[in-house]
Amino acid sequence: MSFDELGLATALVRTVREQGYTTPTPIQQQAIPAILAGGDVLASAQTGTGKTAGFTLPILDRLSRAHSPGGTRPVRALILTPTRELAAQVEASTRTYGKGLPLKSMTLFGGVGMQPQIQTLRRGVDILVATPGRLLDHLGRGTVDLSRVETLVLDEADRMLDMGFIRDIRRVISSLPNERQTLLFSATFSNEIRNLAQDLLRSPTRIDVARRNTAAEAVTQIVHPVNRTGKQALLSSLIRNGDWQQVLVFTRTKHGADRLAKQLDRDGVTATAIHGNKSQGARTTALSRFHKGGVRVLVATDIAARGLDIDQLPHVVNYELPHVPEDYVHRIGRTGRAGHGGQAVSLVCVDEQGQLAGIERLLNRSITKQTVAGHEPDLAERPEPATKGRSGRSNRGGGARRGHPGGGRGGQSRSGQGSPGRRGQGPRGGYSARAKSKAA
Ligand code: AMP
Repeated sequence: MSFDELGLATALVRTVREQGYTTPTPIQQQAIPAILAGGDVLASAQTGTGKTAGFTLPILDRLSRAHSPGGTRPVRALILTPTRELAAQVEASTRTYGKGLPLKSMTLFGGVGMQPQIQTLRRGVDILVATPGRLLDHLGRGTVDLSRVETLVLDEADRMLDMGFIRDIRRVISSLPNERQTLLFSATFSNEIRNLAQDLLRSPTRIDVARRNTAAEAVTQIVHPVNRTGKQALLSSLIRNGDWQQVLVFTRTKHGADRLAKQLDRDGVTATAIHGNKSQGARTTALSRFHKGGVRVLVATDIAARGLDIDQLPHVVNYELPHVPEDYVHRIGRTGRAGHGGQAVSLVCVDEQGQLAGIERLLNRSITKQTVAGHEPDLAERPEPATKGRSGRSNRGGGARRGHPGGGRGGQSRSGQGSPGRRGQGPRGGYSARAKSKAA
């Protein structure tokens, strides 16, 4: 199948070709015609599947076909995302794909001044890409009008719920017209997502695309057992000896991310950290340095890493295993993208055996363990609680989501929406939930 067959305007097909895309991805093949036809869509898809183009291309098409006459330029498409980074990335896609079309887009997220946003909104915007908190601020002040929205997109809806945005989302939706098109994208399907979908969507087209990398077709996964205090030395040595030039490293906490980046830097391995406590400017700079090869290592928390679009990342390292097994799948989905090979390395100490077992159950396979000479773990080391000294929560999943969502207020109001559902899903959590959701 080619892009010409999907029903998109010639100008958009041309732009897509200029991007070097020859074939629509599976989600694009299914989503584009459904969205062009004006219907609702419920799609199970994560980053890396081409989902962004899957919804931005048909939205651009529909908006440009029925361009609003005269001088007014109401917001006609609203895209909600969990993080600033994802908002910026989605809006950049609308600009790229929409170049040459008479449409304006903008991002709306916290951490930057309100005033410039108000001025841009006043000049008129067709496509608004927003995080829920800041959008509500504008709604509260009456500086944005959503009464003419034709299409609403909830991108990474599961993450938005995990981050406690459900009430914010519902409040935003209450200021939209009832007659509209709604598109919901989510990597996993908890009961909360299904409830939301049931409330919001009308006879949606269901799209399920296989997760990338779940069976690790393109990704080599390996676990290096190591002492609790030996991780940083092992990481530096792996990076140096393997001559790894672009490495994304995951830590569980913001503080851990900062500390590791500093230690690596001191060790002569250039590194920078990205997380929700950093200002928007600092995060953008860190990401762009990493993109350009100015730093070898980007240390990130799970939430900060959502929405990062880095093509063909060769190495992903779990410096600490995540509490929620699904996060492991998200993390390793950052490597081996677009059919290129990648390596996902996990540094696992004696405290993390429970998390490792949970991940292996989710993957339904065991991951190869290999000690590294000179960094062998001390077999006499005894486990300590993994969250020692912080929340004291167990490693069963409930206390894992600590990163700041970066979406302004509302983000930290932990509603507990995501975790209990996941906890109840049994060993094959995300997969069985996905399978069940097909029947929903
Ligand atoms: P996404 O899942 O939207 O984050 O997209 C993942 C990556 O795939 C992005 O870097 C896109 O530029 C790229 N991409 C999207 N659609 C295609 C396509 N049809 N062919 C090749 N690459 C694509």
